[in-house]
Amino acid sequence: MAEVRVRFAPSPTGPLHIGGVRTALYNYLFAKKNEGKMILRIEDTDQSRFVLGAEKYIIDSLKWCGIELDESVIDGGDYGPYKQSERQAIYKPYAEQLVRDGFAYYAFDTTEELTAMRERMRAAGIPSPQYNGVTRNTMQNSLSLSEDEVNKRIESGESYVIRIKIPRNEEVKINDIIRGWVVVNTNNMDDKVLFKSDGMPTYHLANVIDDYLMNISHVIRGEEWLPSAPTHALLYKYLGWQDTMPKFAHLPLILKPDGNGKLSKRDGDRLGFPVFPIEWRNSETGDVSSGYKENGYISAAFINMLAFLGWNPGTSQEIFSMQELINAFSLERVGKAGAKFDFDKTKWFNQQYLRSTSKEKLAQELQVFLKEHGIAKKDDFVASVCDQLKERATFLKDMWEQGKYYFIAPNTYDEKTIRKKWQADTPKYLLELKNRLQEILEFNSKNIEKEFKIFLEENKIGIGKLLPAFRLSLTGVAIGPSLFNIVELLGKEETIARMERALSRIK
Ligand code: GLU
Repeated sequence: MAEVRVRFAPSPTGPLHIGGVRTALYNYLFAKKNEGKMILRIEDTDQSRFVLGAEKYIIDSLKWCGIELDESVIDGGDYGPYKQSERQAIYKPYAEQLVRDGFAYYAFDTTEELTAMRERMRAAGIPSPQYNGVTRNTMQNSLSLSEDEVNKRIESGESYVIRIKIPRNEEVKINDIIRGWVVVNTNNMDDKVLFKSDGMPTYHLANVIDDYLMNISHVIRGEEWLPSAPTHALLYKYLGWQDTMPKFAHLPLILKPDGNGKLSKRDGDRLGFPVFPIEWRNSETGDVSSGYKENGYISAAFINMLAFLGWNPGTSQEIFSMQELINAFSLERVGKAGAKFDFDKTKWFNQQYLRSTSKEKLAQELQVFLKEHGIAKKDDFVASVCDQLKERATFLKDMWEQGKYYFIAPNTYDEKTIRKKWQADTPKYLLELKNRLQEILEFNSKNIEKEFKIFLEENKIGIGKLLPAFRLSLTGVAIGPSLFNIVELLGKEETIARMERALSRIK
């Protein structure tokens, strides 16, 4: 196989939605699996849809996800520039070539003339009128006007577009890697604009020319581009590039959790979960859309979840590192059917990653939260806290929220536990227990537990009589990891101080 070269080709019209990230991911996995190249090309020929900050957002998102680029607007490459607005001069000659060869034509129609045509056709009973072989002869273009007239109009500076001339009643066949043969009759296609009056190519023309010039071997993109593929296939043929036409793979849609329709950019915050990898701030409206990163997701967990939205390895393994995804990935295992987004599963992935992350690594991250709250603790202490809490947490922030008492003595004590477990004789027992703990020489969880049990036996009381109150006095809450481990970590001095504090505060 010739060298695999794939491209992710977003338009900077806003933040990258998770569907876009998945497209980038599948391109990346496919490239790396086949020892090929991953290219980022910015498709910004539609100046009217340009959004400030979107390009940077795309680049930052890919970086956070760990999707590495071999050639891009940042680092360049042998096939640059990688931004279509910087390639503007490249496209026009190809559009002219298509006109010369009879595959495209100039069209001078004004907006009003186009609207009038559509109204005329609708009135004649055609519900979705198109500029095509049926209507083009009634319009102002180089096929309906004389050559003289056309030249005159162009020379006088009249604005025009270049349209592809779609033939009547031919079949265009595309062998899609995911969908198999896709066959479209040209009677269902329209004469799309290839080159606009503002001097810019449209998506269709620029996309095909760039894929050709950049030696792209596979076009892997969302299903929403499938309807454009026949136009692209014809362009390859008309430009004489049929033999090097890339292979196509159109990825399935990502659906809303209930399966009803495509998951859109607007769904996220409305349905209660982010649809963007990282937070997006709209510089015009000031609106903020939440991101997975800011919501405490580990990027590897986010990627693992995305990889499964449309692909599966064919085994029961669910947790994959990026390298494992690369090894296991194939387009043949990408399904045709839309993939339902499952937010609970996304959380589950994060939980799994949290559990499998070393306590030292987690400690590094938790230290960031601690610093924000003005708490300075040694790394090995924080690592032990992480070790005790990680089974119970879904997010790193849970560790901070559920485990504040490791770092700060409680100021309040859970009311319900006081009512149920803090009885008249509790202070007496706690006070005695405190004195016993004071005596322990080697203050570790094993010795603490042993001493606690001896104390219960001696006093002929059950564990339920004292343990909840003991926990409450140290943590302020009723649940948490093994109490004796917590006590060991707090250390003797702090344990004693907290018990005294609780005894003086809980009435
Ligand atoms: N610029 C298109 C987009 O925004 C690219 C589609 C393609 O990959 O051909 O998604």
